[in-house]
Amino acid sequence: MEIWTCPNCHREFFRPNQQHYCSHHTIEDLLAERPPELTLAFDALLLAVADWQPQTIGAGKAAIIFNNGKAWMVIRPIKAELDVAFFYGELLKSPVIKTARLDNMGKNKYIHHIRLRDETYVTDEVVRLLRKGFDYMLKPTPKKRKKTATTKKGKTKA
Ligand SMILES: [Zn+2]
Repeated sequence: MEIWTCPNCHREFFRPNQQHYCSHHTIEDLLAERPPELTLAFDALLLAVADWQPQTIGAGKAAIIFNNGKAWMVIRPIKAELDVAFFYGELLKSPVIKTARLDNMGKNKYIHHIRLRDETYVTDEVVRLLRKGFDYMLKPTPKKRKKTATTKKGKTKA
């Protein structure tokens, strides 16, 4: 997949000349004023998902955005926690999900929030849920790409 880097802010996008807010914030800036545990939590999360492809990661004004053609995960430092938001086509139930609600922007999908205080919060369960969110947002591909046959039956037993 072709990746375009904005010459001004050096953020990466999947479409050339993608419209965006040119931000000079970095992930380090966003986490700098926060408890160091949040950086540990972020690093653990990054380690868990960084290999998932396609993916670009960028820092906006107040959030770190993980994009696989669409923004599939948005991370915001809120006080002493990292708020991790991701989307799915139905409500997922899990003890690690703090809140979930219908997100009516565009399609009917649900936005789920997980809160992390340090790296021990990045559990297998958290990674499993995020993977569902990643795969869900990957499905309706904006570009013409071959349909991969790797999609698992998406029945959730929670
Ligand atoms: Zn830019």
